[in-house]
Amino acid sequence: MGPLPSATPPKKMAVFALVTGVTHRSAAFGYRGGSFFERRDFAMAGTFVKHPQGDLLIDTGFGRNINEQFRSMPLLFRAVTFYQLWQPAVDQLEAAGYDQKSLHAILLTHAHWDHMSGLPDFPGVPVWVTPQERKFISKGGSGQFGKPFTGIRYEEYGFEGGPYLGFPRSFDVYGDGAIVVVPVPGHTPGSVIIFLTLHSGTRYALVGDLVWQLEGITLREERPRIIRKFADSDAEGNRESLLRMIALKERLPELIIIPAHDMRGFAEVPALSAL
Ligand SMILES: [Zn+2]
Ligand SMILES: [Zn+2]
Repeated sequence: MGPLPSATPPKKMAVFALVTGVTHRSAAFGYRGGSFFERRDFAMAGTFVKHPQGDLLIDTGFGRNINEQFRSMPLLFRAVTFYQLWQPAVDQLEAAGYDQKSLHAILLTHAHWDHMSGLPDFPGVPVWVTPQERKFISKGGSGQFGKPFTGIRYEEYGFEGGPYLGFPRSFDVYGDGAIVVVPVPGHTPGSVIIFLTLHSGTRYALVGDLVWQLEGITLREERPRIIRKFADSDAEGNRESLLRMIALKERLPELIIIPAHDMRGFAEVPALSAL
């Protein structure tokens, strides 16, 4: 795996959790062996990264129009999905006094409904996706809203960088090691993990939907088989990346892993107050 990659993140970099709502699930839905009787609220969230070279929003969680958007999802999915909107990312940022014109880009872990619902709340802000995910969006792959968004400025990026923490390729967004993206095709064709390193040395891994709950890593329990069949484009590919992530966590126990839907993960990230 090599030595720990060097990083020189600026002192002014900061990371904030924007939990926009929840879906009501059970542990059994989240990972193999989880109990049907253990109710789990899944976080629907974005992560706001302040960086002097350009602020990023990683995923949006629920946006202002989630209720209307949700009606375009398949009937069967709606029948088993119960959610609650708290406050969309755009309103949380506004309430903190943040001007969305300062937002450099939105970076998606992947293009599923619950990660991109808020895109229309940020008109004109570029949305960074891999070419594979761009294709997945234009094909209207599963897990997206029935009515695709119009007028979104998607921008594609590649992985010119070398191996990073056990993943073969990487994209160092600002060249300072603070925000590094690695491809993990599987859950969707262009899914990514985003590693954040702060000046303090704190390291986060935003693993998207590689796993839904932390037990995916700590107990090595992936999603239940039936769920993998419906939720993953390529469950084998996802497993390969999951094994890399498990190995990484063993090597770097201090790494804070944040599955996109785990409340306990987001509890490790400061909440947004006045900026
Ligand atoms: Zn997903
Ligand atoms: Zn998701």
